[in-house]
Amino acid sequence: MEKVRKTDEEWRAQLSPEEYVVARQKGTERAFTGRYWNTTATGIYRCVGCGTPLFASDTKFDAGCGWPSYFEPIDPERVREERDTSHGMIRTEVLCNICDAHLGHVFPDGPEPTGLRYCINSLSLKFEPLEDE
Ligand SMILES: [Zn+2]
Repeated sequence: MEKVRKTDEEWRAQLSPEEYVVARQKGTERAFTGRYWNTTATGIYRCVGCGTPLFASDTKFDAGCGWPSYFEPIDPERVREERDTSHGMIRTEVLCNICDAHLGHVFPDGPEPTGLRYCINSLSLKFEPLEDE
């Protein structure tokens, strides 16, 4: 898959200041404050950086954690996982594999069929509702 690469200046120009902090500086939005944590509409969640479709609404579930949560990505090739030992915890960071945006973390306490919980910042996503419903 082709990578999207931009300079720091280009990312700052494209993203809102809040999106920039999360997607490019690995920030985390406060729980229950994001634009999609309680969204239940049908559609596709794209990467805020490069527009790649990352998650679908039919894999979204209410994890009660205050961030949009999914049990699997649309295509595992579009996300990358890295070990994250910041903040005194061992977690698995999830990044966009196309533009390297920080998305959130994945935890092994999700529902069937994968048992995974992709806990993603709303600020790293752009929701595209499915029309004609
Ligand atoms: Zn991306």
